[in-house]
Amino acid sequence: MRLLVVEDEKKVARFVKKGLEEEGYAVDVAPDGEEGLAMALDGVHDLLILDIHLPRMDGLGILQELRKKKVATPVLLLTVRAAIEDKVLGLDAGADDYLTKPFAFQELLARVRALLRRRAEAEAPVLQVADLTLDPARRLASRGGEKIDLTSKEFALLAYFMRNPGRVLTRTMISEHVWDYDFDTMTNVIDVYVNYLRKKIDAGREPKLIHTVRGAGYVLKAE
Ligand code: CA
Repeated sequence: MRLLVVEDEKKVARFVKKGLEEEGYAVDVAPDGEEGLAMALDGVHDLLILDIHLPRMDGLGILQELRKKKVATPVLLLTVRAAIEDKVLGLDAGADDYLTKPFAFQELLARVRALLRRRAEAEAPVLQVADLTLDPARRLASRGGEKIDLTSKEFALLAYFMRNPGRVLTRTMISEHVWDYDFDTMTNVIDVYVNYLRKKIDAGREPKLIHTVRGAGYVLKAE
């Protein structure tokens, strides 16, 4: 899961990014409205956290622009005070939820989870490749009926593979979907995680599902 935080207050942005990363999310940060809109239009994020008061373009402006361009990414708005007008304007513009500053990180996290779950339930039924199943809404993975424990990152990586069965995924594609813009693709972190995943889903089982494609990347398939 990859999130975008558009927030000009550096301290808040850092605190939110760090906290969400510790929960296994990939997090990009944009420091002003225009950059935030440009990044949000890429459509690679699963959730946007938009501060309302931003330099260059405010959060509501970003939201209106996104909805006008049919970008339906869920949006959580951050507002300084629980002003009724802000809430009404935001909901009219297509926001999915609100949080009033200052907020406790646990509350932000609960709302993020709820929004992502709602989206996952709406969009992604249980994924299946051979006898491997993954339920994004319940965050469960199993093979041959046997439960597999995965870390948040491993889960995100496996979900990406399972949404693209039979398709060769390059390290760049994987880093773009599962990590974030700051991620250095020259490192071997992706290979390390793919190997963790292999140990958990393929070790001691047939058929092997994760295959290396030399010079290209990886593919998940049942042959
Ligand atoms: Ca602000």
